[in-house]
Amino acid sequence: MEPNVPPNRTRILVVDDDPDGVEMLALALRGTHEVLAASSGAEALALAPHSDLVLLDVGMPGMDGLEVCRRLRSDEATRRIPVIFVSGLDRSENQTQGFEAGAVDYVTKPISIPVLRARVKTHLELKAARDQLERNATVDTVTGIANRRRFEEVLKEEWRRLGRSSTRLTIAIADIDHFKVFNDLQGHAGGDACLKAVALALSESWRRPGELVARYGGDEFAVILPEVDWIGAQGFVLRTLKTVAAIDLAGLGGPGSVSLSIGAVTLVPSFLHSTKGALLAADQGLYKAKEGGRGRGIATDLETAISAEVLVESKVLA
Ligand code: GH3
Ligand code: MG
Repeated sequence: MEPNVPPNRTRILVVDDDPDGVEMLALALRGTHEVLAASSGAEALALAPHSDLVLLDVGMPGMDGLEVCRRLRSDEATRRIPVIFVSGLDRSENQTQGFEAGAVDYVTKPISIPVLRARVKTHLELKAARDQLERNATVDTVTGIANRRRFEEVLKEEWRRLGRSSTRLTIAIADIDHFKVFNDLQGHAGGDACLKAVALALSESWRRPGELVARYGGDEFAVILPEVDWIGAQGFVLRTLKTVAAIDLAGLGGPGSVSLSIGAVTLVPSFLHSTKGALLAADQGLYKAKEGGRGRGIATDLETAISAEVLVESKVLA
């Protein structure tokens, strides 16, 4: 459960089996940070996902600090959280072990509070800079939604996760119809505004855990829908077409509305399929939707090779 702490303050998790050790560090940091405390390795693992940085004792009964650090490093949810060891073990081989377990720093007792504070500050700043870089690398600058790289990462993760439980996955590619008209009539800025409006509408519609809407390229969007079967995929196409038809672009001064063509595929991730093959099949569906008159989607079940065409009454630019 999420600990009850106010948002937007950095949270430091202090882990020590000795309550005096915890108290000493908590006193040093409480003025500037929210402090969470754990007295065992198991408690530390439970609280770490809610922390921005961990100060970790090495010698603890049961699971020691080195093991806690290794586990934090190997878990996707916690691997980016910096760990600083705080220990009375001050030989260089102890410190080497700490760094090998994945710590970013090692502070030896007796502790100098100003030095500890300075190190914590440095590592929090480094983490913030790394997080920002990661966000920049995964976000599309025009629309603010996930970019193609992020889409490929999430698709790989979901493919593995759903493959383990033999659960269905739907992937869709959607392309704006006659998008060039927007650019021709309103210039590149008008085209960008249209892309943003579509990105916003799609990302607000598909935001359940695991769902992802990304800008795949030019005027193409890609969507990941975990645990959505073929019937659900048809529902997705229908809802998406309606959502996009409802976008009011009159303020842009060109065509007041926009439509999409969509190719959606549903499958159970396994050795029978590949992400590449699935995306190719979605692209083929998209191509058929364009050929069929645009403003529609083709949902294909790759397990049975059955396709359905879904369309709504909406205005498609000629
Ligand atoms: P179709 O219905 O067949 O998809 O026709 P279309 O006019 O949409 O053609 P297509 O999808 O091939 O065209 C995509 C256009 O998107 C071409 C390119 O100039 C434009 N484009 C690509 N990236 C951007 C961008 O970041 N901003 C703007 N404004 N335009 C872009
Ligand atoms: Mg297009």
